[in-house]
Amino acid sequence: AAEAELEALQHTDVAALLPLPGAESDKYRRGVVGIAAGSARYPGAAVLAVAGALRGGAGAVRYVGPAAEAVIARFPETLVSDRGPRSAGRVQAWVVGPGVGDDAATVAEVLTADVPVLVDADGLRLAEPAAVRGRAAPTLMTPHAGEAAALLGVAREEVEAARLTSARELAERYGAAVLLKGSTTLVAGPGGGAVRVNATGTSWLATAGSGDVLSGLAGSLLAAGLRAVDAGSVAAYLHGLAGRFAADGAPVGAHDVAEAIAAAWRDVR
Ligand code: AMP
Ligand code: MG
Repeated sequence: AAEAELEALQHTDVAALLPLPGAESDKYRRGVVGIAAGSARYPGAAVLAVAGALRGGAGAVRYVGPAAEAVIARFPETLVSDRGPRSAGRVQAWVVGPGVGDDAATVAEVLTADVPVLVDADGLRLAEPAAVRGRAAPTLMTPHAGEAAALLGVAREEVEAARLTSARELAERYGAAVLLKGSTTLVAGPGGGAVRVNATGTSWLATAGSGDVLSGLAGSLLAAGLRAVDAGSVAAYLHGLAGRFAADGAPVGAHDVAEAIAAAWRDVR
């Protein structure tokens, strides 16, 4: 091929993309990220997505869903609402899906928003393909190989054996940016072109809740104004680095990774 199929963001590329508050910034101008995640069964997914979102550069994190008490107990700075996503107040980008269980109505409602939406985890299974394809605003889907396989209707091994093709195929089918997670992470844009590859991670990131932190982080970058492919690749870069810093050769929990995002950010700047 004449054009490179893969491109890797370098430290300086990521630094140039980080959303920094200007002297006249306020929380709304920095962006509000909405998190529609968690359920009575999986309240922790909501807490971890918010944990990632608080470290992604948005000026405020708004949570909607049944885990508000757990979220507030851990992160009192979160804005919570007992209304549905569409009447929750102003939001510049949404994250929907982590731990929502079978709440298809919330996923459908978020997908009608005219702002960027990141769809992850249960949201990937519950989203109507036509509702994703029909969106006017950008969509970022963040499957791991198993979720990508379910979306494509193939076995997980097929995705593992053809990761680049799988990411591109999903991006084309859904008209969305697709971040395919794994030991290296790929980010394909909806319009084809080079696919971004990220290898800053560590296998210590293979731990429960790690992906929920990533989705909050990427959603926050979307709310701060990054394009979908940039939000996904900057989030993967920072999340991988945060995983390395947090683990440093020992097991860690996903909340440790979220806490290390600030150190990753400082390292990149
Ligand atoms: P999830 O499967 O949704 O919890 O997401 C797991 C997160 O950990 C993703 O960001 C993956 O890219 C990352 N991850 C999982 N396994 C590995 C691995 N072996 N090496 C590096 N990163 C990994
Ligand atoms: Mg996940």
